[in-house]
Amino acid sequence: MDTNVVGLLKKVGGIITDSHIVYTSGKHGSVYLNKDAIYPHATETAKVGKMFAEKFKDLDIDVVVAPAIGGTLLSQWTAFYLSEIKGKEVLGVYTEKDKGTLAGAAESAQIFCRGYDKFVIGKKVLVLEDLVTTGMSVKKTVETVRKTGGEVLAVGVMFNRVPDKINSDFIGAPFYALANFPAQAFDEAVCPLCKKGVPINTLVGHGKQYLQKKGLL
Ligand SMILES: [Zn+2]
Repeated sequence: MDTNVVGLLKKVGGIITDSHIVYTSGKHGSVYLNKDAIYPHATETAKVGKMFAEKFKDLDIDVVVAPAIGGTLLSQWTAFYLSEIKGKEVLGVYTEKDKGTLAGAAESAQIFCRGYDKFVIGKKVLVLEDLVTTGMSVKKTVETVRKTGGEVLAVGVMFNRVPDKINSDFIGAPFYALANFPAQAFDEAVCPLCKKGVPINTLVGHGKQYLQKKGLL
């Protein structure tokens, strides 16, 4: 069952189906994907790292870079398995949100802290991320690696929510998703779940805030 990343996330309860979810965008849909559900489960997280390592094992990768927080675990496990497969040390580091980013900016810049930039200068880099919905945090991480003097060989993500938009061209580097998981989302006005009166899920997504705003909670 857990031969793919969707199966792994299902196994740990990270995929909710047949519900009525309010997404960050404000749109509604029936499926919720909680990628963070995987990280408490070290065995499953390790399996994801192994999937990435298998996928990219033929590239001459020196270091794996991912944006914190979830990406930290992915870069560690992927570096671990790449090191095993390749018989050389592959490092795993992460970028962090630039706290100096101007308030109101849609996405914070991703920067290297803790002296990690020295592991990237002049190195061949695999960039990872758990989930892409806008692709912006991955793009920013790729940018930061290049600015730091690293060469981005490839970009890998666990889940691509917008496969018809986010691809190698969009990211600006060879891009691969372990799974495409397109979000089917409706504007509230045309939401078939609202029409059917399916109760809004208040446990995940923005359902609680949505009902509070309407004075229904
Ligand atoms: Zn709805």
